[in-house]
This record gives sequence, C-alpha cells and structure tokens, in this order.
Amino acid sequence: MKKIVVCTVCPKGCAITVKDCGSQGVYYAGHSCERGKTYAAEECAAPKRILTASVRVQWGNRHMLPVRTTAPIPKDQLMAAMKALKKITLEAPVDFHQVILSDIVNTGTDVVSCMTVEREGMQ
Ligand code: SF4
Repeated sequence: MKKIVVCTVCPKGCAITVKDCGSQGVYYAGHSCERGKTYAAEECAAPKRILTASVRVQWGNRHMLPVRTTAPIPKDQLMAAMKALKKITLEAPVDFHQVILSDIVNTGTDVVSCMTVEREGMQ
C-alpha cells in the first residue's frame, strides 16, 4: 500500500511516498535527504507527535496554562495523555518550562509549561 508522508523535519516539507510500509521491500521516493527517509520510516512504523494542550491553574493571573511534551509521543497515546492532563489543576506560580507531569502515560516523556503564570496579587 502506498502512503504519502509530509516530512516535518525541516521547513522544506518534502512529500515522501512510502510504498509497502512495514514490509521487507519498503520503497521511498520524494525525500531530499536521509533524515526524511528516517522520518518516513518512523511515521510508517510508529507515528509520534508532540502533544500541546492547556491545563487549569488556580490562584494565577490566568486560568489556563499552555503545556507541551518535551518530545513526540506515540500517536496512539495522545488521547490517554489528554485525559491525564485534563485531571490536573495547578497552583500558581508556575515557571516557564516547569515539569507539569513526568513520564506521561508511561511514554518516558515529560510535560512542561510553555509560559510563566504569576500568583494573583504577587508580582
Ligand atoms: S526530506 Fe530532508 S529536505 Fe525534505 S523536508 Fe525532510 S529533512 Fe527537509
């Protein structure tokens, strides 16, 4: 079966054709470099994504905090990870890049804050 994978490793965004994904005779076309071939192979075998989301914050100068995983996690774990994040309510202050949740859904990847949240009334 043929699959088109858009490489996200660099801004060029090559459309890579992968034929017979998962078989012995995998065929790649359209990649401009080896990094794209590696990406396409990974995307074919076990796709991963960076997860971005928001979590609730109490006592802060904002109510929601944007967060993200420090590395891509398996695509089939994204919903479980979202559910885990939905259960979290942080208490301000929160620092930029503070670990919010370690080893989310046993992926070995941490979730960190994408910004600072000050405690309400403290500057
Ligand atoms: S295949 Fe290479 S050049 Fe093309 S997008 Fe991927 S990393 Fe960039």
